[in-house]
Amino acid sequence: MGWDFETEPEFQEKLDWMDEFVREEIEPLDLAFRDSIMAYDRRNPIYKEITGPLKQEVKKRGLWACHLGPDLGGKGFGQLKLGLMNEILGRSGWAPNIFGCQAPDSGNAEILAHYGTEEQKKKYLQPLLDGELVSCYSMTEPQAGSDPKEFQCRAFKDGNEWVIEGEKWFSSHADIADFLITMVVTDTDVPIYQGASMFLIERGTPGVEFKRLTGLAGEAIGEGHHAYIHYNQVRVPEENLLGGPGQAFAIAQKRLGGGRIHHAMRTVAQVRKALDMMCERVLSRRTQGEVLAKKQMVQEYVADSFIQLQQFRLLVLYAAWLIDKGDRDGARTYIAAVKVQAAEVMHDVVRRALQVHGSLGCSNEMPLASMWSSVPLMGVMDGPTEVHKVTVAKQVLKEYQPSEGMFPSMHLPPRIEAARERFARYFEHEVANS
Ligand SMILES: Cc1cc2nc3c(=O)[nH]c(=O)nc-3n(C[C@H](O)[C@H](O)[C@H](O)COP(=O)(O)OP(=O)(O)OC[C@H]3O[C@@H](n4cnc5c(N)ncnc54)[C@H](O)[C@@H]3O)c2cc1C
Repeated sequence: MGWDFETEPEFQEKLDWMDEFVREEIEPLDLAFRDSIMAYDRRNPIYKEITGPLKQEVKKRGLWACHLGPDLGGKGFGQLKLGLMNEILGRSGWAPNIFGCQAPDSGNAEILAHYGTEEQKKKYLQPLLDGELVSCYSMTEPQAGSDPKEFQCRAFKDGNEWVIEGEKWFSSHADIADFLITMVVTDTDVPIYQGASMFLIERGTPGVEFKRLTGLAGEAIGEGHHAYIHYNQVRVPEENLLGGPGQAFAIAQKRLGGGRIHHAMRTVAQVRKALDMMCERVLSRRTQGEVLAKKQMVQEYVADSFIQLQQFRLLVLYAAWLIDKGDRDGARTYIAAVKVQAAEVMHDVVRRALQVHGSLGCSNEMPLASMWSSVPLMGVMDGPTEVHKVTVAKQVLKEYQPSEGMFPSMHLPPRIEAARERFARYFEHEVANS
């Protein structure tokens, strides 16, 4: 099988332009405006003023909202190229918004493009792709996590309306979203994989009640952008069903493949930042008569971090390549592996980078402590590490059979005997010569 690690020169030119544009025009926004939610809030006039011209520039270069395939009206770059783009965008909290590919809107656009009716596409997809709307994906439940088998939020048909009743937990951006996509049980007589449906719910629909807003570490209780929602007898018209009844699980699967690659490549960018900080610091900081970089334990930090980062990056690009080749089954294993690795590599490299910065690393004067606080999220959001490991293990085990006898197929005595039988004439010769 051939393998080429080079990027086409025309696409490399685009990446080079992005690299400079993100560094010069976007990364300063992360420094000037420290509340990252600003990058998402379309109704904020300052946001519009700042991002408008930058978005225009991205559109002019043909790099706006590139995540959709050509069948869905997008550019069709494929996951490998999108991955390389996200490796650049991941350096900044603002960049994905300015390139029109921020989560969860990008995944929501993907499912709307796949499953939406013409009317739904006109009303929700196009403005979402144009960056005029903000969306929310509301699936996780407080008692269930993201395991659909434990879901209790239900919808009942009443005339030509659906009535939704139940709770959802950690629905990111629900507070600023113009619409929510909610996954709800609609038929308890069939397995959940055929018994859940997705609904589009507009902002301001009566009954969408925020029990409270949940934040992340560092945010005050009651503040934050992850809503705990009670869908209190929320009525939505029939035409707000996304896809057919019972299709939610298939739709949810569609949402995740590419998104996980993009997120992983944005993680590569963060990990590289941590490694850059680590290397600069260990070459600069002196202790006991020499720079930290001379200490072998510190060298181990640098080497292990570099190796983990490169391994992870190649794993992500390989998963992207499999998706582009249409190897869905193979890609599934690798996408799950990538999800697991993202959390581990981020954990290991950020911890070492923070460690070599000592008290400065722990402080609020370097980006490291804030990166560190995002480490636990990586192994939880979009399904915990354990669940993705189970997927990897199940996929890997599909390739194997139990051994036929009591002993494993690699048990040496019978294999040696069989091999010796095959080469018996040489052994006879040996015996004769001795
Ligand atoms: C920053 C962030 C943003 C999020 N945004 C959204 C969003 O926009 N929309 C949305 O719907 N959800 C969102 N979530 C929720 C996310 O999908 C869930 O946190 C995740 O699916 C896990 O569910 P849980 O938190 O309830 O953990 P639980 O399901 O309670 O799991 C807790 C722990 O139990 C263990 N565990 C769970 N399952 C298994 C298993 N099968 N085998 C072994 N151990 C297991 C793991 O250690 C796991 O971490 C977000 C979460 C975070 C952190």
